[in-house]
Amino acid sequence: MTATDDRRRRIEHALVGCAVGDLLGGPYENRRPPPAGWQALAYASPSPRWSDDTQQSLVLVDDVLRHGALDARRVMERFVAMRDEASAPAARFGLHRGTGRGFRAAVDAFAERGVAAPMPGRAGNGAAMRVVAVAVALGPGAGSVAQIEALSRSTHDEPLALDAARAVVEAAWALQDGVRGDDVLGCVVDRLPPGVVRDTLAGAVAAEDPFALFADAADRAAGCRLEHGPGGGHALAGPLSAIVLAARAPTLHVAVRDAVRLGGDTDSTAAIAGALRGVVDDVDTLPAALLAFPGVETLRRWGAPQLPSLDEWWALERRLSARADAPGRMRG
Ligand SMILES: [Mg+2]
Repeated sequence: MTATDDRRRRIEHALVGCAVGDLLGGPYENRRPPPAGWQALAYASPSPRWSDDTQQSLVLVDDVLRHGALDARRVMERFVAMRDEASAPAARFGLHRGTGRGFRAAVDAFAERGVAAPMPGRAGNGAAMRVVAVAVALGPGAGSVAQIEALSRSTHDEPLALDAARAVVEAAWALQDGVRGDDVLGCVVDRLPPGVVRDTLAGAVAAEDPFALFADAADRAAGCRLEHGPGGGHALAGPLSAIVLAARAPTLHVAVRDAVRLGGDTDSTAAIAGALRGVVDDVDTLPAALLAFPGVETLRRWGAPQLPSLDEWWALERRLSARADAPGRMRG
C-alpha cells in the first residue's frame, strides 16, 4: 500500500466513523441518554441521515482532496451555497442539517459581507466536530495547523472553541503516528498552546472521572451547569471527552457507544470519537447494521483514488435532506 493509499483509506474510515457516531448519537442529542443496557447495535431510524458533523467534515476534506489545500474562503462559500439550496424544507438552513445558532449566524454574515464575522463568545464544539478527516488529509505540520485554524476562525472566535479543535487535530495526528492509550493525551497536551483547554486535558489524565472533570470545567467557563450531561456541547466537554474515549476505548464501536452514553451533544461527541478511531481502526469491524446507512457507499468514495464529482456530492446531500417520510426517495 502506498503512502497515498494509506492516507485515503484513513480518510475514508475517519469519515465513516464520524458518520456512525453522528447517526448513533443523533436521536439522543440534548435529550434523555440511551437506556443503561443500550449497546449501539442498530440505528433508531430505518433511514438515518447524518448531520452537520459529517456534512462539514466532508466539505473540509473534499476541499483538500480537490484543491490540495484547505481554503477557508472556499469552504465558507460552499457553506453559503448549501444554505441557499431551495430544495430542503423551509424550516432548515438550506441543505445544512442540525446546525447551531452560531454557525448559522457566521454563514449568514459571510454571505452578506464576504468576510468572516463569527458571533463572539461562543465556546461550542462546532469547530472541533469537523476536523479529524481534514487533519489526516493535510497531514501534520504548522502549515496544516494554520489552514485548519483559519477555517475555525471563520465560524468561531472564542479561544476555547479554537483550542478544542486544535486538540482534536493533534489527537488525530498522534493516533496516525501509532501513539495509543493515555500517551495520546500526553501528546496532545504537549502540542497544545498554553490555556484552559491544555490545562483541562492535562488534569484529566490522572482524574478518576475525566468526564466529570470536563463538565465541571465547562460549567466554570460557561458560568452555568451543562443541561444534558458531561457530553454537552461546550468546547471543554464534548471534544475533550471524545479524545479520552478515542484514546482509551478498546474498539471503535465502544468509543462511539460510550460517547453517546455520556449524554449532551451526543452526535458531535460520538462523531469526533468515531472519526478519531476511524483514523486507526477498520470501520468494517463495526456491526453490519451500523454500516448500512443511506449514502454510505458514496461517502466511502472519498477514500478512493477517483473522487466523486461535485454534482454527485450535491445530489447526495439533496437526497439526504429530502423528507424522511417521502416514499421511494432513499435507496441507500
Ligand atoms: Mg450534528
